[in-house]
Amino acid sequence: MSVLVVGSVALDTVETPFDKRDDILGGSASFFSVVSSLITDVRLVAVVGQDFPEEHVALMADKGVDLAGLTREEGRTFRWSGRYLDNMVDRVTLDTQLNVFEKFDPELPASYRDTEFVFLANIHPALQLKVLGQVAAPKLVCLDTMNFWIEGEREALGEVLGKVQALLINDEELRLLSGEHNMVRGAAAVRAMGPEVLVVKRGDAGALLFDDHGMFCVPAVPLDNVVDPTGAGDTFAGGFVSYLTHHGEVTPVTLRQAMVYGSVTASYCVEDFSLDRLRSLTRDEVLERCERFKGLTQFEDVVLKS
Ligand code: AMP
Repeated sequence: MSVLVVGSVALDTVETPFDKRDDILGGSASFFSVVSSLITDVRLVAVVGQDFPEEHVALMADKGVDLAGLTREEGRTFRWSGRYLDNMVDRVTLDTQLNVFEKFDPELPASYRDTEFVFLANIHPALQLKVLGQVAAPKLVCLDTMNFWIEGEREALGEVLGKVQALLINDEELRLLSGEHNMVRGAAAVRAMGPEVLVVKRGDAGALLFDDHGMFCVPAVPLDNVVDPTGAGDTFAGGFVSYLTHHGEVTPVTLRQAMVYGSVTASYCVEDFSLDRLRSLTRDEVLERCERFKGLTQFEDVVLKS
């Protein structure tokens, strides 16, 4: 089973209160692909510029990512720059340079068109629709978006929302999209727009799943050393969607397991800059942390003495 991802491949400049890195590998599709490659085949659609280092392409190729849909255009690669606040959760975007991403016009190679599991990362909703139109018979389409599109491209976003089964967004995006401050009411409002499954990512507060079977919460794995939170959301999405792809079925059980798998894989992402921790990550390490995760969330019945 394969998963198709369409999104950004970027060069990021990241500043934390403790350290700084310039022009490191980033982008939603990079984090998503590399973590997904641990347990499933990945088909990538993205664009980079002439300046994109060959070593990053080699990393993805080494991970077995299908790069037939990665194009290299004249110009510079998409660049993003951000600075984290002292809490190492909140960040300010310092700079976004679209560069070759501005004219990104995703064209799926013929070999990708039968993909059943699809992740439309955070790109213009009109492009997300275009990609969807090129996939023959998707079984599960998951969507990400951001404030910029929620505020500026409501109509196109509404159309995509009507065509996808799952939406993965953060709590701030949920409030903006739903117009509700309360997350439970917001979730109901967003699910009424189309996606049966809604995942709300909440940084170091974990994530929430809303589906026809109710609500499910996972914590973020508490870590003693957070180096760079960039890409945690995309890694969570990669873990979540690749788990469902790996099992080939979307049930209340696999959705909840996928939430745990997403949270655990995202916890590795933040332990180093860029994809530096993900690139060496093994399936055994993930399984071992999933096992430890049980200890975080299991407890005996709460009883009261009479
Ligand atoms: P996350 O921390 O999961 O929100 O993902 C951050 C990644 O998203 C960074 O590596 C950026 O390169 C990428 N990114 C930031 N802004 C955008 C944007 N407007 N469109 C596409 N990708 C972006």
